[in-house]
Amino acid sequence: MTVRTRFAPSPTGYLHVGGVRTALFSWLYARKHEGQFILRIEDTDRERSTQESVDAILEGMAWLGLMHDEGPHYQTQRFQRYREVIKKLLDEGKAYKCYCSKERLDNLREQQMANKEKPRYDGHCRDLQGEPPEGVKPVIRFKNPEDGEVVIKDLIKGSVIVKNTELDDLIIARSDGTPTYNLTVVVDDWDMEITHVIRGDDHLNNTPRQINILEALGAPIPAYAHVPMILGDDGQRLSKRHGAVSVMNYKDDGYLPEALLNYLVRLGWSHGDQEIFSIQEMMDLFELSDVNGKPSAFNTEKLIWLNQHYLKEAPRDSVATHLLYHFQQQGLDMTQGPSLMKLIEIQAERCKTLKELAETSHYFFVDTVEYDEKAVKKNFKAAVKQPLATLGEKLAALSEWNKETIHGAVDEVVQQYELKFGKVAQPLRVAVTGSTMSPSIDVTVELIGQERAVKRIQQALELFPEQQ
Ligand code: GLU
Repeated sequence: MTVRTRFAPSPTGYLHVGGVRTALFSWLYARKHEGQFILRIEDTDRERSTQESVDAILEGMAWLGLMHDEGPHYQTQRFQRYREVIKKLLDEGKAYKCYCSKERLDNLREQQMANKEKPRYDGHCRDLQGEPPEGVKPVIRFKNPEDGEVVIKDLIKGSVIVKNTELDDLIIARSDGTPTYNLTVVVDDWDMEITHVIRGDDHLNNTPRQINILEALGAPIPAYAHVPMILGDDGQRLSKRHGAVSVMNYKDDGYLPEALLNYLVRLGWSHGDQEIFSIQEMMDLFELSDVNGKPSAFNTEKLIWLNQHYLKEAPRDSVATHLLYHFQQQGLDMTQGPSLMKLIEIQAERCKTLKELAETSHYFFVDTVEYDEKAVKKNFKAAVKQPLATLGEKLAALSEWNKETIHGAVDEVVQQYELKFGKVAQPLRVAVTGSTMSPSIDVTVELIGQERAVKRIQQALELFPEQQ
């Protein structure tokens, strides 16, 4: 049997991290078993589904590298097939037309609530005899078995048993003939030969109904695995309130996809006490039986920790590609400056995110820097004006431009004026970067380039107070 899993988002908003984690588990399971991963867009709710949201799903999945082997299938393109299945169920007496008015259903619900019963359809139209009421467009209901029970052998939650008396006759087509969610999912899982339905546990209560419909159709029953939800740091269900939730927000905030994937895979799944997993390791080690049945809480600190790890350890060229996006976002001309690979080498250690890395590296790519007033006041003292001017001349005269020759020039000035290294290096740093924060001074000056560095020192000299 070839394992076939699917991710079936409804395109009614952004791609949520909770959805991504479910998709990741589904994808890993398929990869681990050399199976197929299918993407299905559940867009039957035409009012709430948008193209923008479909694009966000495709973009998010591509950014994370969770590539599908089949699809995307769109449910709106399958209405013909759903109609066919509904007709089959009607013809075989496994579904029926229901003409109950809204008033009748409302009354029924009120009565049941007053009697402290669970509101459910009472099967009024199940065996309707004679002529149907005129002018009423019926809905179609599935004839749920009236006794027995449904046993879900959930691969994460264990055995879940639901009595059929707790279920009612579900609407599978609305009065305008459009199919409802439970019907479309069942038909799709059947037609797409899904072997493992891995999805959020908010769908667990749909599963017994779906199993009953599959059985009525004579379709195989897939295995089910319901993934618990993600909570925010405060124990409440993760939502916008907790900050970034859309996967593309994480991209914009400067996270690497491998860091987010590593973070999400560990959210509710574990393999011993290992924290860092390459994609290959995730594929090799992932087991649904190791997924925790209880909700897990999002922890931004840990995500940052993983991001820092991957900034340093992931292949530089791949980090560079992601970094480029952030520089472009900030409108910088990347052709005039050091290579991104070099920049990552010196900055990765110092930054939590790619966004921060790009934001703190402007001075490598612009012609003139803006000076931080406080840094100028503190470091541009009259007594260092001459040493810095001398250093500027020495740097201008260097025929070889690298961190060793630059360091040598600073050392010469330090000795000549009998100053401490920092007394020269820090004003130099402010002169060439505009602030007091940068990687080690020799490599910073090297990457700024000879022409720009010398010019900036000359400009900085103008900001010094005159000697008393
Ligand atoms: N379309 C459903 C959702 O976005 C998922 C359905 C399923 O996985 O069965 O919640």
